Amino acid sequence: MIHLLPIYLFVVALPPQPVTTILMDVSAYCPCELCCGRFSDGYAASGRRAVGKMIAAPKSYRFGTTMIVPGYGAARVWDRGGAIKSAGERANGKTLRHDRIDLLFPTHSAAKKWGRQLLRVEIRKVNHANN
Ligand SMILES: [Zn+2]
Repeated sequence: MIHLLPIYLFVVALPPQPVTTILMDVSAYCPCELCCGRFSDGYAASGRRAVGKMIAAPKSYRFGTTMIVPGYGAARVWDRGGAIKSAGERANGKTLRHDRIDLLFPTHSAAKKWGRQLLRVEIRKVNHANN
């Protein structure tokens, strides 16, 4: 029976969620009126308070999905946005080549400093989340 132990350990060590890496168009925002307009009430689309790190992503990414963004770190998808769309959708009269996401920063200047970057983002999808 003891010889089965290493196999068992290998199975439980596998990541619980599928991990993929996708090239994404990554912009930034803060909770201010300039960034959020009439949605600048301090709450994200998920109902969570817009504090700390969070990501606005297209609806193809469920709330609770973890993304690891180079230069930003790991954060979860808890918000949506008008311009935050999937590759193939249209925004500002153009067809998007990449999925677009928006990173929450505490201040407008920090969000401006981030600008917009094309980055390889690691995604850990959730199978069940309260969307
Ligand atoms: Zn702002």
